Amino acid sequence: MSAPKQMILPKTKIHQVANHVHKIGFWRKTEDEDSDLPWPGDFIDEDWDSIMRRAVAHYLGRVTVSSQDAVTVVGHYRGFSLCRLCGKANGSQDYSDGQYYWPQGFSHYVKDHAVRPPRKFVQRVINWRRSRNLGEL
Ligand SMILES: [Zn+2]
Repeated sequence: MSAPKQMILPKTKIHQVANHVHKIGFWRKTEDEDSDLPWPGDFIDEDWDSIMRRAVAHYLGRVTVSSQDAVTVVGHYRGFSLCRLCGKANGSQDYSDGQYYWPQGFSHYVKDHAVRPPRKFVQRVINWRRSRNLGEL
């Protein structure tokens, strides 16, 4: 039994972000690549509640401008990232809500592959929906 996998990356990985910002949803290229990045297949949870899963995927993909809880585009790449699990072209930008930082394609992993983000992030989505009166999950 190996140590529990961590989806949140150490601050030094990929590019630097502000100290309080957590990076999630960045993966190594192949399952057996020698890398400190996590593998999305280690976070698949097919039993995860489908309504919650859709709500989280929606949150990850909601890019907005100029609101106090905005999700904004904070990084661009020249090419598309390929989904590590199915190979489809999967985004070329990074998003942030000010507290978390994730690649555009992360919502695809959540929606289509049941990759489950860290509990604290899911709680953040639940709190956000509550604050917007979008309904309880
Ligand atoms: Zn995929």
